Amino acid sequence: MVKENIRGNLIVISGPSGCGKGTICSKLLKNNPDLFLNVSMTTREPRSGEVDGVNYYFVTKDEFLNKIDDGGMLEYAVVYNGNYYGTPKAEVEKKLNEGIDVILEIEIEGAAQVNEAMPEGVFIFIIPPSMRELKRRLIKRNTETKEQIIERFKRAYKEINEVNKYNYIVINDDIDTAVSKVEAIIKAEKCRVNRIEDFDLNTKEEMLHELLTEDLKDYDK
Ligand code: 5GP
Repeated sequence: MVKENIRGNLIVISGPSGCGKGTICSKLLKNNPDLFLNVSMTTREPRSGEVDGVNYYFVTKDEFLNKIDDGGMLEYAVVYNGNYYGTPKAEVEKKLNEGIDVILEIEIEGAAQVNEAMPEGVFIFIIPPSMRELKRRLIKRNTETKEQIIERFKRAYKEINEVNKYNYIVINDDIDTAVSKVEAIIKAEKCRVNRIEDFDLNTKEEMLHELLTEDLKDYDK
């Protein structure tokens, strides 16, 4: 018998702001309701339409710093405008232990910390087809000021150079193709040999014996 490791996989998805990773994650979840997209904590202000506990846990800087001090964060980073973003640890551990695959949609500094703590994670980097297209998408999104777009675009350059720290790269040219590539990665990771906890060779030998003696005894070709 082959016994599989029943712990879920931790899947980290990063990519520059505007590369479409948010859309990829929501489509991924819609197609695969058994996946769990973790809710991050942030000190930034909610955008219009964003809901506390759904898009993020929106907290004050003090609350965030207390959580770090309590050892409650798997990773965190100061990303834009001095705002903190981080992954509370407890929920991630709980889901992984229940055998559920957990998605973290986080930037590269946080991903590097996750890699230290959980090197068995699966690290996927999403890139736009070109920097020009990235700039176009950031402007079209219409959620940031001009200064914020410039800050995000500069950071995108820095982030794209870190791609070699990831296991997989997915170009988001066509959204459905990108989603199906991420799905393929998640499925393939489930089949990794190192997920096999126990491969009972005795049982295999017994089966071989049974096959050669019992099952073949009436076979006369
Ligand atoms: P936004 O302000 O557009 O929601 O997110 C800004 C950036 O923060 C994105 O690149 C996003 O991936 C990243 N981010 C969101 N949640 C987390 C988190 O929990 N940890 C880290 N390190 N980055 C995060």
